[in-house]
Amino acid sequence: MSAIGVLALQGAFREHEDVLSDLGAECFEIRKRADLDRPMDGLVIPGGESTVMGKLIRDMGMAGPLRAKIEGGMPVLGTCAGMILLAEDVVGGTSCLGTMPVTVRRNAYGRQLGSFSARGNFCGREIPLEFIRAPAVASVGEGVSVLCEHDGLPVAVRYGNQIATAFHPELTDDRTVHSMFLGEL
Ligand code: GLN
Repeated sequence: MSAIGVLALQGAFREHEDVLSDLGAECFEIRKRADLDRPMDGLVIPGGESTVMGKLIRDMGMAGPLRAKIEGGMPVLGTCAGMILLAEDVVGGTSCLGTMPVTVRRNAYGRQLGSFSARGNFCGREIPLEFIRAPAVASVGEGVSVLCEHDGLPVAVRYGNQIATAFHPELTDDRTVHSMFLGEL
């Protein structure tokens, strides 16, 4: 069985744990730097508030170790704020881990349309898309593939071992995104 570390500093981490457990993966919460020393087969960075999470990651000295794991090939799934933390460039915020060559724009859908549901084609499968004050992917660098689009913009991307979504797959019953992530392990 695989052990997935779920970054549990802030945000919607419990929902990811529920989905991963449902799919048969073992999870543990990463709350402090020492938790990063535990054997880990994959990492989830949840949605929440990227500014808060980014500050905690830096203040707790976790940015370097997390970056090293991701750059070393550890499978990672970042959702919403998690996508922002992975992005190399952040419009309206600061880049934190910067391991994925994409530019994202924070809170791109404006106030009124801040949260909405849609459906989209994720690698040939129609899945529900839950957006909550989501970032938009403004541009993707070389080697990044687009897994899903909404309104002509990428909303799920992949760069090697890294998968990032602007939406929240952990808030629906659909398991496609997490299954793809676990398939990487
Ligand atoms: N708007 C949040 C941010 O900029 C992301 C929202 C979310 O993760 N649901 O960090």
